[in-house]
Amino acid sequence: MKEIEELKPLLYSVSKEIFENPETAYKEYRSSKILTEILKKEGFNVEKNICGYETAFIAKYGEGDVKIAFLAEYDALPGIGHGCGHNIIASASLGAGIALKRLIEKENLNATVYVIGCPGEEAEGAKVKFAEEGIFKGIDVAMMIHPSDKTLIKEKFLAIKEVRFKFYGRASHAAASPEKGINALDGVILTYNNINALRQHLREDVRIHGIITEGGSAPNIVPEYAEAYFFVRATDNEYLEETLKKVKKCADGAALAIGAKLEIELGKGYKAFYPNNTLAEVFEKNLKSLGIKIDEPKEFGGLGSSDIGDVSCVVPTIHPFISISDKELRLHSKEFAEASISERGNNAIIIGAEAMLLTSLDIIKNPDLLKRIKEEFVPR
Ligand SMILES: [Zn+2]
Ligand SMILES: [Zn+2]
Repeated sequence: MKEIEELKPLLYSVSKEIFENPETAYKEYRSSKILTEILKKEGFNVEKNICGYETAFIAKYGEGDVKIAFLAEYDALPGIGHGCGHNIIASASLGAGIALKRLIEKENLNATVYVIGCPGEEAEGAKVKFAEEGIFKGIDVAMMIHPSDKTLIKEKFLAIKEVRFKFYGRASHAAASPEKGINALDGVILTYNNINALRQHLREDVRIHGIITEGGSAPNIVPEYAEAYFFVRATDNEYLEETLKKVKKCADGAALAIGAKLEIELGKGYKAFYPNNTLAEVFEKNLKSLGIKIDEPKEFGGLGSSDIGDVSCVVPTIHPFISISDKELRLHSKEFAEASISERGNNAIIIGAEAMLLTSLDIIKNPDLLKRIKEEFVPR
């Protein structure tokens, strides 16, 4: 497409610039600046410091009825740099945003375009707060693409909740007066084993994985404090809640058995990702029209969690993956980082931007399609 084609040099240089200067979660000052400066120059209205996140931004152009958002991520991983290819995500959304803006202007389309800068995806993702605080209110659809070794349209992400179990026992000499002690480490070990017993009776999509973060200071002291840190995941929000209740009971039972005091601390969580099928099918059609082959969806497994889940619970959303390699690639690896700046990586920017642009035009020009997208959407 001409609109994206003419942006190629700009998008490649933005991707390279972000790649060569990797910034970890919430420290993406330079990346955020590069993107916002370009968007400002292009005529977007740019707001920074969103929901208290300094490196977040909302760039908006137009006043039309159909409101389309392209989401940009630009954080890197400590030590690995752009091993998740967020330089591609940022550049593709930038490209789709600028191209749609120019078309709105040129063809007087009844649309508003947003490029939303979403920092910290690899940490406590900003999109959670964005969704909670109504940033997506009024927006009709949200889109982004993510690089991968496969091209996949409707991959799911697991809902996740972090949980910490803190056991308080009583210290005592482990040989001279063990009967006076309460072993907090036993609380952690029993919790671990209770959860292992529970696994057999959970749905197969559940993932529970934990570590022991504190387990005492010396063998001759009955540990008075011990702590375990777990992630609990499932493919839907409801089953995650149900599982979480059972997991908590595993710790309750352990505390009861040994007479320790237990504190359960819930940490960050992401909702499950529910892709909008109608929107995804339009994207798929457009991707195919660009000559891209879609890979077979994966069997269950190989799924992580992302704050895009929270977005999909408040606005119709897609998060397709675009292949950047013919070889199998692990996310968050050096090899993935290399592929993110390769020719295939650059190509994914263009393909992603074009498919998102075409999908936006379909929605803007076909009110019935947007109606169907919205009918399918279930707020969660
Ligand atoms: Zn990642
Ligand atoms: Zn990622």
